[in-house]
Amino acid sequence: MAGRQDNNDRTLAYAEVALSQIKALGQGAVPRNYEIWYVYATGYNPALNKAINDTLAQRGSLSDADLDQLYDDYLSHGRTTDRLDQIGARVVGEIDDIMILLAGTLGSTASFGENLRGESDKLSTATDHDQIKAIVERLVSATREMQQTNSALEQRLSQSKQEIANLQVNLETIRAESLTDPLTGLGNRKHFDRAVSEAIRAATAGNQPLSLLMMDIDHFKSFNDTYGHLTGDQVLRLVGLTLKQSIKGQDFTARYGGEEFAVVLPNTPLRQAIIVADNIRRLVMSKELKKKSTGEVLGRVTMSAGVSTLKPGDDADALIERADACLYAAKRNGRNRVICETDPEFSCVTQAAVA
Ligand code: GH3
Ligand code: MG
Ligand code: MG
Repeated sequence: MAGRQDNNDRTLAYAEVALSQIKALGQGAVPRNYEIWYVYATGYNPALNKAINDTLAQRGSLSDADLDQLYDDYLSHGRTTDRLDQIGARVVGEIDDIMILLAGTLGSTASFGENLRGESDKLSTATDHDQIKAIVERLVSATREMQQTNSALEQRLSQSKQEIANLQVNLETIRAESLTDPLTGLGNRKHFDRAVSEAIRAATAGNQPLSLLMMDIDHFKSFNDTYGHLTGDQVLRLVGLTLKQSIKGQDFTARYGGEEFAVVLPNTPLRQAIIVADNIRRLVMSKELKKKSTGEVLGRVTMSAGVSTLKPGDDADALIERADACLYAAKRNGRNRVICETDPEFSCVTQAAVA
């Protein structure tokens, strides 16, 4: 409950940021502009945020043409679809070419067969050496032609095999991109949703424990306000790297949203998951942040974490909601801490939310 309320507050806050940007820059409050600024406020699409910040830094405003371009480049859902359509068209083209070639080869094989039969009939009635020699010559020439047709087909098939292997690599690249957060290189929300459902299925089937960490950077808004969004992005990269370095084996980590991260820990009971969360928390806190360009010391960031563990009958939403409620409790209890669902602070939050 508390998690959902928190979520509503968050989405309303994004909507307010979007509207205030539209007003401040004197833009039309049309869906396209609203979507651009809403996504900007969430920070889910770092490349879009960077492009907007760069344009604003250079020109101080965004024209309608800029907004069109931003929408096409970063939000239009057609880009991946276009790439998939192109690959599909190339596969169909390859198959068509091969079918035409195969039909031609089948025709040649049939007439070669007829030729052989005809020459064989003639051979049975041939009486002299010259007749036999002529038959053999025709057979040799027909066989050579057939060999050439076959080798052309073989060549085209191997070319086609290579072309299809290339298309497969392209498809794999698109698939990987669609599951990766471009800023941190971690899995994105979509990847996380799939991974957590798959982990629940495997844990239930194998009767194994499974835990989930939801982690969020503390007071990150004020960090951004103080040092700028681009420096904030560097911190998100560093946190992403720290998470990647802190997990092993089947563990999976993703950027869940703006400055919120998730870690799925298969075959890990609650106590062990708390240790993992606390190690990450300490490691993030231990890093003194410095601005690369100037060497300016920016201090440190801390993270709060909520830990839940799979209970019988849980689906992904239930597991995530409990970890999120624990995270909320960690925030309420002073931040820079790990709270799990058996902690008294967690039950205080859930009771307060129910009351
Ligand atoms: P809390 O401790 O309660 O989590 O406070 P907070 O300030 O971290 O949380 P809040 O939800 O108020 O703000 C989250 C901020 O995270 C807003 C935005 O400035 C920042 N943020 C989200 N996504 C990105 C991003 O992609 N890049 C950068 N630089 N900042 C982001
Ligand atoms: Mg935060
Ligand atoms: Mg947050």
